[in-house]
Amino acid sequence: MHVKAIKMRWAVGGVNYCYLLSSEDKTKSWLIDPAEPLEVLPALSEEEMRSIVAVVNTHHHYDHSGGNVTLTTTLRKRHNNVKVIAGSDASFGVSVVPQHLDVFKLGNLEVVCIRTPCHTQDSICYYVKDSETAQNCLFSGDTLFSGGCGRFFEGSAVDMDVSLNLRLLEGIGERNWPLTKVYPGHEYSKGNAEFIRKFVYKNPGDNTSFDEFEKYCNTHEVTTGHFTVLDELKYNPFMRLEDPKIREAVGDKIGKWSRDKVMEKLRFMKNTM
Ligand SMILES: [Zn+2]
Repeated sequence: MHVKAIKMRWAVGGVNYCYLLSSEDKTKSWLIDPAEPLEVLPALSEEEMRSIVAVVNTHHHYDHSGGNVTLTTTLRKRHNNVKVIAGSDASFGVSVVPQHLDVFKLGNLEVVCIRTPCHTQDSICYYVKDSETAQNCLFSGDTLFSGGCGRFFEGSAVDMDVSLNLRLLEGIGERNWPLTKVYPGHEYSKGNAEFIRKFVYKNPGDNTSFDEFEKYCNTHEVTTGHFTVLDELKYNPFMRLEDPKIREAVGDKIGKWSRDKVMEKLRFMKNTM
């Protein structure tokens, strides 16, 4: 498996990523969230462009799907069978809408579509397995960020809890959590670390996994693909709703709040930070 991260909209503060996911022999690729053709196309070699069999969206927001038409027009000059895979027809030019847990083959790779409605109703996380090299990865769009999660634009706190902490984790399977590298839609790790330090794990030593996460984020501009799903479970507050430190941070002094109330409050605190 090969993953190439392409920066988009960094100059305007969007800090988006487009990803080229390629099979081990590099003959088949998916181009995930290529929203900005002017930034994506120069980053691709002719060989890479010819390998692309699908333009894929994690959700319909313009900073993820806005390049579908230009990209497919450009790629279809190389070969005709370039699909557009997305969670709904709100994405331009969509030709395939996967159902929850639908599986695609991409050369030697297997991609499982995990539908995670909340940030948008059409959000999909793509979980990729390489049986040759035992590498696993997850393209999590705006559902899961390193140290955070997406805003609840089209869903509730319950929806995010179900999507993040049930559907996603079950879809990947516990034995794969330590092997699965996370590739989110944006580079938000540093800001997420600042939030966690300010409100949750306030002192070094409160959570040593978080201390390591924070250190890495403060010394690396690009963190995508570095952390695993198991890492996230150790410090991402939105995946640790039962942690007493999280309960304390949201104001649940005796640990009696429902999970969705904790999720809701965490999201509110992050939005208003
Ligand atoms: Zn979005």
